Amino acid sequence: MSKKVEATAIGIDLGTTYSCVAAWFNQHNRVEIFPNEQGNNITPSCVATNNTELLVGEAAKNQITRNPHNTVFGVKRLMGSRFGDSKLQEDINSWPFKVIQGSADKPKIVLEHKAVEKDFSPEEISSMILKNLKAAAEAYLGTTVKDAVITVPAYFSDRQRKATKDAGTLAGLNVLQLINEPTAAAIAYGFDKLEDTSHQLHKNVFIFDLGGGTFDVSLLTISKEGRIDVKAVGGDTHLGGEDFDKAMVNHCVREFKKKQNKDISGNAKAMGRLKVACEKAKRDLSSTTATSIEIDSLYEGVDFSTRFTRAKFEELNSHFFLKCMEHVESCLRDGNVHKNNIDDIVLVGGSTRIPKVQYMLKELFDWKPLCKSINADEAVAYGAAVLAAKLSGNGNKTVTDLILLDVTPLSLGINIDEGTMSVIIPRNTPIPTTRERMYYTRYDNQTSISVPVYQGECNDVKDNIFLDEFVLHGFPPRRAGEEKMKVCFSMDANGILHVLAESVTTGNKKSIVITNSGDLSKEDIEKMLEKVAL
Ligand code: AMP
Repeated sequence: MSKKVEATAIGIDLGTTYSCVAAWFNQHNRVEIFPNEQGNNITPSCVATNNTELLVGEAAKNQITRNPHNTVFGVKRLMGSRFGDSKLQEDINSWPFKVIQGSADKPKIVLEHKAVEKDFSPEEISSMILKNLKAAAEAYLGTTVKDAVITVPAYFSDRQRKATKDAGTLAGLNVLQLINEPTAAAIAYGFDKLEDTSHQLHKNVFIFDLGGGTFDVSLLTISKEGRIDVKAVGGDTHLGGEDFDKAMVNHCVREFKKKQNKDISGNAKAMGRLKVACEKAKRDLSSTTATSIEIDSLYEGVDFSTRFTRAKFEELNSHFFLKCMEHVESCLRDGNVHKNNIDDIVLVGGSTRIPKVQYMLKELFDWKPLCKSINADEAVAYGAAVLAAKLSGNGNKTVTDLILLDVTPLSLGINIDEGTMSVIIPRNTPIPTTRERMYYTRYDNQTSISVPVYQGECNDVKDNIFLDEFVLHGFPPRRAGEEKMKVCFSMDANGILHVLAESVTTGNKKSIVITNSGDLSKEDIEKMLEKVAL
């Protein structure tokens, strides 16, 4: 049913495996999720090409086993990444679609579309998913949609955030703000409580968000006046359900080899069918202790059949689950809150349905019950929709009164003394924020100083993420240490960094917004906008 309403700002959860879109409805005084064409509230983050058309969402996922080389999933793992990254290489080797090295070490996805091979940036593929979600909202609303809030993992770096914002622009969206996924989930969790004014509220809440591709933890306080203060975040942008599926697939490949003496790992079609079957079996194992995987004619006419137990699944993935718990402990330490002082532990993301994950988390929090009251699949889009309403001046008093104080996920600084990280904004600093530090010339008659910007926690910059570099010229030639440069870092509410360097003597300055960190320039976006209209 289509309803005519005023322009609405939407909230989008752009997930690794599934995405979801929602908006605040003044008429109903609540958030509604927009169903996709098939009537489902979540849409596979999947894009495919064939001889005649471009498919997005369920249509793309449904044909994956017939067309594995031209069906892209998990593109979120490619956003803002470097082709040479070792974790990414592992993914690329396991994916049936082709990923090549583009300029500046950026990955490019190669698809055959209408019998022609074309390469696409991760931003372009993501923009197709975003366009599809935008269209679902527009079909439901009966009007065009422009403004959006898009969610990103709290642990996303500056590069990954910029790439997400660019994907939004490519999809024809005006990205009002990016919001961290656990913070969006906290809004969904806290919203009912904020609405209930009789409720005495100042709660320490721990959000545990394990999705398809990323893992985020966030420690925050929700206060009665409608303030959500994030104290600390942590996680791994490369850990989630996809990894658990992969561990199962690899186990089955080994079993097939043992039983049939045939290696199926090089056959994309067989691997695609095995992945679909393993993901289904993984879901079954959340509610039953054993299941079977049966695939007719998997490889060279040979069937595959095996029994998979929950215990085997847990054994194969135990190192991932342990890693999750380590992140929980380090986030509690960073936020300086003892686990006994956590009022609620909130589960978000499809992979939190895994019983072992729930068990380990409960054990860590001394058997405190976990909060499963929010919809694990929709909570992030819900929170993004509330923020979209607030930013566009919509919504009721609870929406407009909402105050969000997020933090930087990773430390930001510059490279000094040949390879040492000098931190200017430490991780878990509330944003927006502005911090500055003074630097000195290092040798006599030095007239320029370079400012190489990095993000990460290591003392040695080569182990951190390089963002960008510029040079400030025009220092008067003096003895080493006599000339000063002030470097000022400002991080905006999107988590995007602005850098300014200034000579104290001359007042000469130079500033940049970190944009060319392997991401897209304005011109790139314009060029791509033409190309994306396939
Ligand atoms: P999300 O990114 O939050 O949509 O989570 C998607 C991930 O959750 C995928 O890897 C799914 O396979 C996984 N998932 C969904 N339901 C279950 C379940 N019942 N048990 C285990 N994993 C699940």
